[in-house]
Amino acid sequence: MEQVKCVGCGISIQTEDKEALGYAPPSALTKELPICQRCFRLKHYNEIHDVSLTDDDYRKIVSAIGDEDALVVKIVDIFDFNGSWLPGLHRYAGKNPILLVGNKLDLLPKSVNPNKVIHWMKKEAKELGLKPIDVHLISAEKGKGIEELAEAIDHYRDGRDVYVVGCTNTGKSTFINRLIKQFGEETSDFITTSQFPGTTLDLIDIPLDGNSHMFDTPGIINHHQMAHYVSKQELNQVMPKKEIKPMVFQLNEQQTLYFGGLARMDYIKGGKQSFVCHFSNLINIHRTKLENADDLYDKHLGEMLSPPKDIENFPKLKRYEWMIKESKTDIVISGLGWITFPEAGAKVAVYAPEGVSVTIRKSLI
Ligand code: GDP
Repeated sequence: MEQVKCVGCGISIQTEDKEALGYAPPSALTKELPICQRCFRLKHYNEIHDVSLTDDDYRKIVSAIGDEDALVVKIVDIFDFNGSWLPGLHRYAGKNPILLVGNKLDLLPKSVNPNKVIHWMKKEAKELGLKPIDVHLISAEKGKGIEELAEAIDHYRDGRDVYVVGCTNTGKSTFINRLIKQFGEETSDFITTSQFPGTTLDLIDIPLDGNSHMFDTPGIINHHQMAHYVSKQELNQVMPKKEIKPMVFQLNEQQTLYFGGLARMDYIKGGKQSFVCHFSNLINIHRTKLENADDLYDKHLGEMLSPPKDIENFPKLKRYEWMIKESKTDIVISGLGWITFPEAGAKVAVYAPEGVSVTIRKSLI
């Protein structure tokens, strides 16, 4: 049988295993443009203004960038760092310098030190194999840091072309629109699309000066994003829209917190302690005894513990366990939020949907 590929992400479509990658109901195979369930949900419940690419096309585009002499500007969402990370870019981009930009700075509480965020981004990038020429923080929506970034781009590009790359939902379109405004009204008249050699994909071509250009490349869907597991309405609840207000919980050992039904933290051992939760303030945090936690989840997922409402398509939570060794440590659930442990010595377990990254870092506050 011929393999049908999803037009959204390029994965081979299968109709048997609802839990596995590439699942689509059999009716999807009869469509002219077949799409897997995850991409379907992303597309229909979550507005994407960007065109998205199959993995193959993405590789073609980024390896073509490697053949150019250019500056690459890579956008990530600092609230969903791992979920919005474009994998492998450093391998494809060749010798070209990569300027790393963290967007959505406005979501972090004022108490977060931006220099710590930059330091953390550099460290994470290094672990993921990328050594950026510089790291900038911006809020594309609020227009923060744009001027400084525009200056840095101009400095590092040194007369060369610029390619802007990023996953869908990182705010790439918002950023590009800001830059266009910044460069002046008349620039927008000159925006065209141009085709990249070897691909059928259009790039948005924004002229910078007489002979160099900035190209906006299409975004790629990253399957590790929390956004894939909730409906559009729920995503508005999960993704904070404004500055996060931290919430403090005093917990005894053997207590559990549920973040809606999307994630869970078990406080296993370490005496009475305070934990600071940084999540969208629309997410309901529910406290229970650890011994009752499994039962509660089985009985109340989709109701008291929601989002998600649609529990049929929601993956099992995966468990990660840590011993907090240093005071002021964060455990980050990509795309959902993080918990700050002010003191060392807590033994905890954190659960998140399989595929969503859970990481530990030195606290940003
Ligand atoms: P793209 O898919 O990467 O082109 O992303 P968009 O520009 O369409 O933005 C994706 C979502 O992120 C939209 O809901 C935007 O409103 C939101 N967004 C973009 N930039 C920012 C920002 O600086 N701060 C916040 N809080 N949200 C942003």
